[in-house]
Amino acid sequence: MAAPLRPPCDPNESSLKIFFLGPRAENARWVLSLVTSLFERWFDWRRRIHPGDGCAISIADQSQEEFDVRRSAFSDALSELMTRFEHEVPKFSPRYVGHMFSETALPALFGHLVALIHNPNNISGESSRVGVHIEHEAVGFLAQMVGYRPGVAAGHFTSGGTIANFESLARARARCALWLSAAAGAGARSGSLFESAHLGWQSFDALTSASGKAPEERFNFTSGNPWERTRAISEAFGQEFRGPVVLVPGNKHYSWPKGVELLGLGTEAFWPVELDGRGKLDPSDLAKQMERARREGRPILMVVSVAGTTEFGGFDPVHEVTQLLETWRRERGLEIWHHVDAAYGGFFRAMDPGARELMGNPAAAALEALSLSDSITLDPHKLGYVPYASGAFLTRIQRDYLVTRTDAPYVAFDPLHDRGPFTLEGSRSAAGAAATWMIARSMALSGDGYGRILRRSVETRKSLEELLLASGLPLRVAPGGESNILCFTLAHPHEALSKSNARMRQLYEAFSPKSDGPFTFSRTTLRRPTYSKLMDEWIPSWNAVLDEDEIVLARLCLMNPFFGSSETRVSYPQELVKCLQEFLGRVS
Ligand SMILES: *Cc1c(COP(=O)(O)O)cnc(C)c1O
Repeated sequence: MAAPLRPPCDPNESSLKIFFLGPRAENARWVLSLVTSLFERWFDWRRRIHPGDGCAISIADQSQEEFDVRRSAFSDALSELMTRFEHEVPKFSPRYVGHMFSETALPALFGHLVALIHNPNNISGESSRVGVHIEHEAVGFLAQMVGYRPGVAAGHFTSGGTIANFESLARARARCALWLSAAAGAGARSGSLFESAHLGWQSFDALTSASGKAPEERFNFTSGNPWERTRAISEAFGQEFRGPVVLVPGNKHYSWPKGVELLGLGTEAFWPVELDGRGKLDPSDLAKQMERARREGRPILMVVSVAGTTEFGGFDPVHEVTQLLETWRRERGLEIWHHVDAAYGGFFRAMDPGARELMGNPAAAALEALSLSDSITLDPHKLGYVPYASGAFLTRIQRDYLVTRTDAPYVAFDPLHDRGPFTLEGSRSAAGAAATWMIARSMALSGDGYGRILRRSVETRKSLEELLLASGLPLRVAPGGESNILCFTLAHPHEALSKSNARMRQLYEAFSPKSDGPFTFSRTTLRRPTYSKLMDEWIPSWNAVLDEDEIVLARLCLMNPFFGSSETRVSYPQELVKCLQEFLGRVS
């Protein structure tokens, strides 16, 4: 390639130029040499295992005609598959700014590939001699990133954020049932039903060691016949047991209602917490709902807050939720499980504390408080730039992690290291863990490594926002997006919401993955009553006529590391402004 010589690039840029293939496969030659040497080592490994056994496929076999015929069938199928995948959404392109994915990082891709060809099953050390240790170390890296103490924290990789959220619900339910059954067995002197469900491990230990008895099964509402157990609990406390509730903010991912239903808690157990004018969990409403649960004797299975909302990439006030729960702990002795769904936003904690301020104080404070939560969901396959499927579930302390256990008669589990008895999933690939291990080892989940890439994505969103607002477009940026997601509508002053919503639906048609337009966006719709406060505070700023109960927004995830590159022939931000102007010229 005869590229003109350029001065060496900024260190902030070199990290991404090394760790990504590049939109034009700029690093192809180097990547190809890595692929070749990796496969050669894999071949050699096979040859070293029982070398005296001899070969099963001879040179003579390989020269048979049958081989040629079948090989060409194989390569035809492979070629067809490649051709078909060439119609796949080109996520690597800086023009793709739709959902929460973009280019994958090379170290992650190679980590995934290495695990793939060795094919470990991380259900146990029996089927994964190395993979389970890689997973253990990768969990340690993630724990350190979120501020948990490695060695004290526990966790495992899942196929994504949805399952990680289910893992938290299953454990919170098991813990609640265990505490409740211990108190019910110890008799009424241990306190009310609500207090017993929030006993805390210390009081639990005191209670079980004083009575010398394990918690009584007949009071555990997760085993046996739940209806009979409910009756037994009601009788023990002299108060009707109507089941626990889960407090989740209205900006939640849809995995939460799914999980509550799946666990058989009943959809009524899902208590949504109101959002403020910026679409974030409102702590005063949370306090109100907690009081209501206490009044009604409904144990609070868990309180969920979101770091990196699916809609906006915004942050709930995790720190304020932490303070509220801490007050309940200190003043009332009530221990309540706090789970942070940081599937999207958890990785921003790889940025230096100073750099996090770029996203504003509330976001920085929320990220800082991640370390005080009881459990966390992370999705390396989002902002970790790791291939699918890679999610992770972490707890701050081991004991909360180990509270659920199911054994399989045909697997010999190592009680100390194996995750099999504790995971909702059975067979689990080590690929997601190996990919995450690679980014942590080669790029570092800190301010001078990964943090740089994320910082750049936040800066990209900020500068694109400024450019769009200065462009003369009737563009209204939705409040509450602090990180690298930009949501907006195109609406003229005094225009009816129905008119601008129709325009935004057309915009999505023109910029959806189906249209093959110059850019690819995603779209979201905010509805009442969940987003009432945000809508009432924001939409009047352009004096819109509120003739619909929803607002349709374009949603841009600015994850691609090259969207803001200055070397490409086009400036993507300027091109995007031009495309929006053309769109408005076409559509009234
Ligand atoms: C993406 C996301 C999830 C679900 O993760 P999957 O990996 O798609 O299962 C959960 N919560 C939040 C906040 C998310 O952004």
